[in-house]
Amino acid sequence: MGKPIHHSKSPLIHNTAFRHLGFDGVFVPLLVDDLPRFMDAFREHDFQGFSVTIPHKEAAHKAASSRDPVADQIGACNTLIRQADGSGYKGYNTDWIAAISAIERVLAAGSSDAAAATSSSSSSSIEGQPSPLQGKTFLVVGAGGAGRALAFGAASRGATVLIANRNKARAEALAAAVPGGATVVDWEQLQAGAVSADVLANSTSVGMVPNVEEAPVATAAVGNFKVVFDAVYTPRETRLLRDAAAAGCLLADGVAMFVGQAVEQLKLFTGTSQPPVQLMEDVVLGKVKVGSS
Ligand code: NAP
Repeated sequence: MGKPIHHSKSPLIHNTAFRHLGFDGVFVPLLVDDLPRFMDAFREHDFQGFSVTIPHKEAAHKAASSRDPVADQIGACNTLIRQADGSGYKGYNTDWIAAISAIERVLAAGSSDAAAATSSSSSSSIEGQPSPLQGKTFLVVGAGGAGRALAFGAASRGATVLIANRNKARAEALAAAVPGGATVVDWEQLQAGAVSADVLANSTSVGMVPNVEEAPVATAAVGNFKVVFDAVYTPRETRLLRDAAAAGCLLADGVAMFVGQAVEQLKLFTGTSQPPVQLMEDVVLGKVKVGSS
């Protein structure tokens, strides 16, 4: 469910994965104006669940009858799963799981290869183990929807959260909402190289096509961070990630987040413990065409 929805790659990703798994289902794009009205009208129909995108993630959170605890804190759900007991839909937010898991994998592997962090191992979080983010300092750059998911996700993993945003009031509002609190970092100080942390996570849209030569953090400041993650996935290799690679940082990219959020949704939709991660990544990267799998 989204508006607009025609550009969404989710039907292609999920239907390709359904076919691969032999799952008896179909994923359809739904152009929805008013999510509560839609949910009322279609409650009786046989939807196992929904992927929810802009602008309905907050409405989906409200429409859910129960929620995953971190999704509850974030206040936004991108996934709704029908509950077998007829109690309604449970809400999840796979965006934060995907981004945080991508960063955790890079930290755990100590690899500086972003592609390695996005490929075959990219589906699963590091379940059952203490998070490598525990006790780390985690700077979120940006304070919009993706920034909120990253800040709450990092806090849930025991990281010390710092937030920098061009509009400082928005950073302060987000910092006040993060469980356990977060520290606001001055935007100018960040650009001047006066801020360092274990992880830098860009959640701004800076660097996205067509402005591919822009970066949210000054080139000279990027080396102050061990791991650099960029939520932007068009292009995959952003200016920020190129600067970070040159500075010797470990890298995690937005494709890992994008594929990861779909993989976590697929697990919730189908119950599979063996999602076809590489196939889903190939769909995202345009290597698989409709009907070819
Ligand atoms: P959003 O809610 O609109 O937030 C945009 C953020 O970018 C705000 O913090 C804004 O700062 C900042 N920003 C925009 N232009 C800026 C500039 N020129 N200089 C400095 N800061 C600027 O957007 P969102 O939904 O969080 O998405 C943000 C990015 O994450 C997008 O590129 C989106 O594609 C990406 N994303 C990726 C995934 C994935 O799966 N990889 C998932 C979700 C989002 P102000 O508050 O100062 O305006």
